[in-house]
Amino acid sequence: MSVDPAHRNACFPNRISRILLLALQDVLGANGSSAVLTTAKLPHYVGTLPPADFEPGLTFSEIGRLFEALESIYGVQAGDRLAKQAGRESFKYWIEGFGGLVSFADVLLRFLPLSLRVRIGVEVVAEIINRYTDERLVLGESHDQYLVKVETCGLCAGRRTDIPACGYMQGTLDELLFWVSRGRRFTIRETACIALGDPACVFAIDKVPPSFAGA
Ligand SMILES: [Zn+2]
Repeated sequence: MSVDPAHRNACFPNRISRILLLALQDVLGANGSSAVLTTAKLPHYVGTLPPADFEPGLTFSEIGRLFEALESIYGVQAGDRLAKQAGRESFKYWIEGFGGLVSFADVLLRFLPLSLRVRIGVEVVAEIINRYTDERLVLGESHDQYLVKVETCGLCAGRRTDIPACGYMQGTLDELLFWVSRGRRFTIRETACIALGDPACVFAIDKVPPSFAGA
């Protein structure tokens, strides 16, 4: 079972690839997203989304090219901002695509204190990603932060960048936590990134949202 994804075509399944392309399209518009897809040498996805099934979809290197193209067209800072925005937009499609699991979690979460809702929300997402994709997520925590460590990352494959490259994941986590906390924004940073030469991509989430600090 544990074939090193580097030795085959590591990928996201169609359903998750579709979520990514829909979210990019929401943020960039039809013209922007076709420019990015064409620059990324993925013209066959212009105007055509993958089906919502679990067959192999976009490979990690294709997704790396996609975010590379986003940066080359819009610039480093704007590309990063757009990737984060796409991540936030993607969350509604995650709810659509994994609805059964999510509505179960919603009912369960309603009765739990905020700190536990955040922890379980992150655990559910890590479980989905580990189960359905070739990414490998490991969760950890310090006294004041939750840590999401992506040991095999599908977003920055093949890239070398000057700033952390996985804004899409950060945006997805941001919107997930907004949803599980019923309207609070948490501070999340990508503190290490494989595209910077680090061994893993690491997202650090402050356990207490800023509006709670000192309250
Ligand atoms: Zn990264």
